[in-house]
Amino acid sequence: MAKGFTLETYPWAYTAQFNEDKKWVEKYIENPHKSPAEEAELSPEALTQLLQQRNSFPQLPLVNYTSQYGMGCFEGLKAYPQKDGSLKLFRPDENAARMRRSMEGLMMPGFPEEIFLEAVVEVVKKNMNCGFMPKYDPAWEADNYISGHSVYLRPFSYSEPAIGLGVSQHPWVVIVATPVGAYFAPGSSKAVVTDKSRATPNGTGWIKCNANYVVPILAKKQAMSAGYMEAIFLDSVEHKYVEEGSSCNIFFKLKDGRLITPELGDTILPGINRKSVIELAGDLGVKVEERKVPIEEVMDDAQECFVAGTAAGVSFLESITWKEKTAVFNDGKQGELTTELLKTLKNIQYGAAEDTKGWMVEV
Ligand SMILES: *Cc1c(COP(=O)(O)O)cnc(C)c1O
Repeated sequence: MAKGFTLETYPWAYTAQFNEDKKWVEKYIENPHKSPAEEAELSPEALTQLLQQRNSFPQLPLVNYTSQYGMGCFEGLKAYPQKDGSLKLFRPDENAARMRRSMEGLMMPGFPEEIFLEAVVEVVKKNMNCGFMPKYDPAWEADNYISGHSVYLRPFSYSEPAIGLGVSQHPWVVIVATPVGAYFAPGSSKAVVTDKSRATPNGTGWIKCNANYVVPILAKKQAMSAGYMEAIFLDSVEHKYVEEGSSCNIFFKLKDGRLITPELGDTILPGINRKSVIELAGDLGVKVEERKVPIEEVMDDAQECFVAGTAAGVSFLESITWKEKTAVFNDGKQGELTTELLKTLKNIQYGAAEDTKGWMVEV
């Protein structure tokens, strides 16, 4: 089953297009499938062919602002299997709001939050009703749900046909669903500071847009070929302040117990896990600071380090290497506060702890 990200796309997808009358025209699409049990019996070749059909949307244009110029944005959110057999989405209202802001940031018509919310629920439900959903496994409890599976939803914008320079006026919003397991393979969690820049002031760093991923993918690839798992970005002006991981926000616990994370601005992506971790840490009585985070300070004074995001969850980093120096955090092991936050978050998501904040939305 699902290891990390897969393209074992579930059968039901969703599209909506902003038409000439400025209305969102919605469509649920049932792509070719058999029952999950029948698909499990298929030969690898036959399964590959079926999955290729499911990832093919002939109704969408090939050449457009998104495929040519990266003028598109996306979201990532998960539905978590619960003990009672249901599925619950984690803070989809936050993704809905960010999707709208991202589209408006790219000068597209914003996708209304209430349509987004209904569509993500419906897509999960339709797939669930034909058997495509991960089943809750009590074995996940043993490792605080690190091995837990979920449904990953990928909503994204996609432009109308176009070749010249311009902004999309009649975009589609597409939503696909795939099963997903743990993101980072167990093993090394060493990080290295990259000299590449992810985001620049007055740029698009705050928008969850396609273009923002180009540099991080290159930086991560480079880091990985040097034996690291993650690349850490500093600010692009002074190269002094920590900003983000390759696709996730970053936190440090200092020796005096404070938890620090870079403050939001136009070069930081406002992560929903970031926001949630800040709130949960506050509940635990931890002093949290959102501010500039000098790399010098964390090299000398950090005791724990972790990254946070929907794909990464809360994942500790054992060390950061910067300019030939390496800071090892907590002897290279997952720290106490990191563990506590990871547990608290996962327990809420998988329904093992009461959702006192109303973050979970039933499908
Ligand atoms: C999506 C994303 C994150 C994490 O956001 P979540 O809402 O927590 O998943 C962080 N950084 C970047 C650059 C991202 O694109």
